[in-house]
Amino acid sequence: MARQRRPGVNERMKVTVIGTGHVGLVTCVTMSMLGHDVVGTDMDQEKVALLRRGIPPFFEEGLEQALRAELTSGRLAFSGEPADALRDAEVVFICVGTPARSDGEANLIAMEGAARDVAHHGRDGVVVVEKSTVPAGTSERVRLTLTRESRGLRFDVASNPEFLREGTALADSLRPDRIVLGVQSDWARDVLRRLYAPLTDQGHELLETDIATAELAKHAANAFLAMKISFSNGLARICERAGADVVAVADVMGSDPRIGRAFLNAGLGYGGYCFPKDVAALDRLASRLGYDFRLLREVSRMNDEAVEAAAAKVHEAVWNIEGKRIALLGLAFKAGTDDVRFSPALQLAERLVSAGADLHGYDPRAADTAREELPDLNVSDTAYAAAAGAHCVVIATEWPEFRDLDLARLREVMAYPVIVDARNVLDREAVARAGFAYYPTGRTAILTTDVTAGPVSVEAVAVASGAA
Ligand code: NAD
Repeated sequence: MARQRRPGVNERMKVTVIGTGHVGLVTCVTMSMLGHDVVGTDMDQEKVALLRRGIPPFFEEGLEQALRAELTSGRLAFSGEPADALRDAEVVFICVGTPARSDGEANLIAMEGAARDVAHHGRDGVVVVEKSTVPAGTSERVRLTLTRESRGLRFDVASNPEFLREGTALADSLRPDRIVLGVQSDWARDVLRRLYAPLTDQGHELLETDIATAELAKHAANAFLAMKISFSNGLARICERAGADVVAVADVMGSDPRIGRAFLNAGLGYGGYCFPKDVAALDRLASRLGYDFRLLREVSRMNDEAVEAAAAKVHEAVWNIEGKRIALLGLAFKAGTDDVRFSPALQLAERLVSAGADLHGYDPRAADTAREELPDLNVSDTAYAAAAGAHCVVIATEWPEFRDLDLARLREVMAYPVIVDARNVLDREAVARAGFAYYPTGRTAILTTDVTAGPVSVEAVAVASGAA
């Protein structure tokens, strides 16, 4: 489509976002903050009703305040009707879910539904942008759906994969490391450059590629980060046997700029909505294209192994798990979010419960979402209440508040002074001084002979529970 328009700095454009989940809602707010007129639409009418009242359906730092401000500005609105939402849009972002099917293949049914909505209700000349993470080649399917389902609509398709991280999503979206545009026409390139001008004018980098490259780059980035995590977990297993320290190994490795320190933390492995499915989807794409990318299957196998290793450590720490009270600190898949989708902490919880543990969880943000996911899970209101009478505390998510636990108080309320630190968040020396048996990940354990000290008095348990 060879229509030309003069690029205008900070031009106000009409944007519609289909799918107002973690990515879509942040995209709505960001686009509105950049000065565009935005309508968000979602098939989930309850979500739309909440958003209209300025209530995000999930926790993300700063999002509620920003959502309310943008609603008040008049630039941002939500609609449950695709026809209303799409009528005027110059740019449509598709931000729907792309979960894994049982064989790992990305389920793109929502992508097709969104494309169909644009075909039926979009305006002539619309640029349809895939922001959801999709296998390379998906844009061709979107294009075909738009052609087949519309009556002569002129449109273009582009890819603009999202690199935000839950926990810092709004900041990432407003200050992106890079904006990736996969485009194949001057029209789409021009429209998207104008859309992002407020960010590129501030110096944020814009990388332009063909569409398949942009689609593949997102899967490649997530699979590579997942690989770094699994590599570190493999190192953790060796360090434990060799008497080496995986944190120091990561520091040494990470000081090499070719490697980088990020994502080298050994622990309970990766989880969340993206990494597990994206590793699987890239593997499936490769095999569909005739390449056996075995490394990716090993990455996910090692990730499962990380949860098993933590469960084995709990067993080692308390002997028989049956009947033991275990406090699981951290339920979200990572700190900064209430998202428990594919959370390794919940996978560990299920494993411990099936081994007979009396499990009590705690999370600063994810209590409700965890209860929805595992209705039988006992969730306490404080770390100390979860730990009251416990034979072992397991740290499963790297929330900063766990670094600052009052170890003396923790020891006082617990039945056994035993900590399994599946995220290496605690300070070894402080834990040792407080008299705990300590089982970190990929570092030497501190074994005290004092593991049966206690049991805690009934009063101490009551005090801790009362503090909840
Ligand atoms: P999500 O589940 O939080 O949100 C998806 C939303 O799409 C839901 O609200 C759902 O109701 C809605 N939806 C589904 N089908 C629809 C349709 N046909 N019409 C209208 N709405 C529809 O998912 P998410 O975490 O925002 O992820 C969305 C995409 O972005 C995925 O492809 C994901 O891989 C990718 N992504 C996610 C993250 C992240 O951190 N969550 C980061 C980068 C990329």
